[in-house]
Amino acid sequence: MTHSFWCEKCQKDFDSGAYKTGNRYGEWFVAKCPKGHKNIRYITERHLDPYFRKSEKLRKQRIFYRKDLLQPGQAGYDVAYPEMKKQFDKQTEADEKETKQTEKYYGTLYKEAGMDKTQRDAIKAAEKVENGTH
Ligand SMILES: [Zn+2]
Repeated sequence: MTHSFWCEKCQKDFDSGAYKTGNRYGEWFVAKCPKGHKNIRYITERHLDPYFRKSEKLRKQRIFYRKDLLQPGQAGYDVAYPEMKKQFDKQTEADEKETKQTEKYYGTLYKEAGMDKTQRDAIKAAEKVENGTH
């Protein structure tokens, strides 16, 4: 069975087959990194295993999963997803532009309609349909 290890000397993660050993206090896995450094993983005292603190791979995984929970607008999101942030801003900008154009368009229509109530009502109805607020 392959286990994940952190080599303290190389400061690198590596996966390797390992053998189990121990004494009367506990058991641990032993494996050698690609450069031949001996590393261990605690079996009985799992919660004390320094691997969980040191492994770069685990750290990246943790960041990845935390990143996954971020929502647009949340602190950290813009840093985690710069591309998404760009798209989001672009879309927001486009939406605002469209809204402004629409407002301008209806403003012109109202101006043209003057005090004609029938026309104003028709414009109002069309505006509601466009805004999805009817
Ligand atoms: Zn090593």
